[in-house]
Amino acid sequence: MDYEGQICRAPMERASFMLPVMVGCSYNRCKFCNLFRHLRYRELPKEQIEQELCRVKEAGGSPKKIFLGDGNAFGLKTRRLMQILELIHMYFPECGCINMDATVTSVLGKTDQELKTLYENGVRNLYLGIETGLDDVLEFMEKDHNLSQAYQAVKRLKAAGMVFSAHIMTGVAGKGRGMENAKELAKFLNRTEPVHVVNFSMFLHKEVPLYRHMEDGSYIPADELENLKEERRLLELLEAPLLYDGLHDYIEKRFRGRLPDDRYKMTAKLDQAIEDYEKREPVYSYVQGECPDLVRCDGCADRADERIWNMKDKEIKGR
Ligand code: SF4
Repeated sequence: MDYEGQICRAPMERASFMLPVMVGCSYNRCKFCNLFRHLRYRELPKEQIEQELCRVKEAGGSPKKIFLGDGNAFGLKTRRLMQILELIHMYFPECGCINMDATVTSVLGKTDQELKTLYENGVRNLYLGIETGLDDVLEFMEKDHNLSQAYQAVKRLKAAGMVFSAHIMTGVAGKGRGMENAKELAKFLNRTEPVHVVNFSMFLHKEVPLYRHMEDGSYIPADELENLKEERRLLELLEAPLLYDGLHDYIEKRFRGRLPDDRYKMTAKLDQAIEDYEKREPVYSYVQGECPDLVRCDGCADRADERIWNMKDKEIKGR
């Protein structure tokens, strides 16, 4: 299948067979996001999905884990998802784990019975775009949910048997609010106990609505030093056992491990990075272009137009 768009998934899904079932994101309004902004959202025809399953089967594939793409596959109607699950089980009866990204509202839009049926038909990990622990930031970024809804969604998906994993973003609350966000986000994550937390630390995209706010001063971005400090505080405060992966691709840093066991190792590594960035001029993760061809711009004059990812890797660090 010719893949349309950008591969974006949690690093722990890297080994899964990525099966696109839609192009783009049905919501596509979060102010900071440029992943699918240029794409016209549409569901892929059943025939195209089946062709892809058939291609992988004929190539000898036997995936145990499948990740449905793209932006918000869980937002598909339950009937549609069930058709896709049936196809998967027809081609790969041994596949017992079907994962995907979800928005809070896409979970809340399904009944308890629908959630249960999806679980019984193989849906396991849902990666929810939680992003922040602050309601005013969710509203400003047009995230389409508030914290109370996020609590409800997690409770309901877990009651159906599914696994909750969280996408978060250091830096999202803006300059001077990193510590506040770390505290509130830790509170949310400690109560909801995700199995995985993935921090796609904030990129400041030039082509998204948030950039207009940066231009008129209604949003003041945090620099990378503040983002590192925010992440350090978050790691100190997280209590529930979980697998954490923090990607700061702009400054080529990554902090991952299992909490609580690896907490000291991770915070020590963060301390080193913090010490290093305390000696430098502030660095802002300004980028332009489309993933995976993002280039640095504005905030890093000496490295402007330098690409963020080395495409020798083919797939960009799990995104
Ligand atoms: S952050 Fe997720 S839900 Fe929001 S526009 Fe981007 S892909 Fe869609």
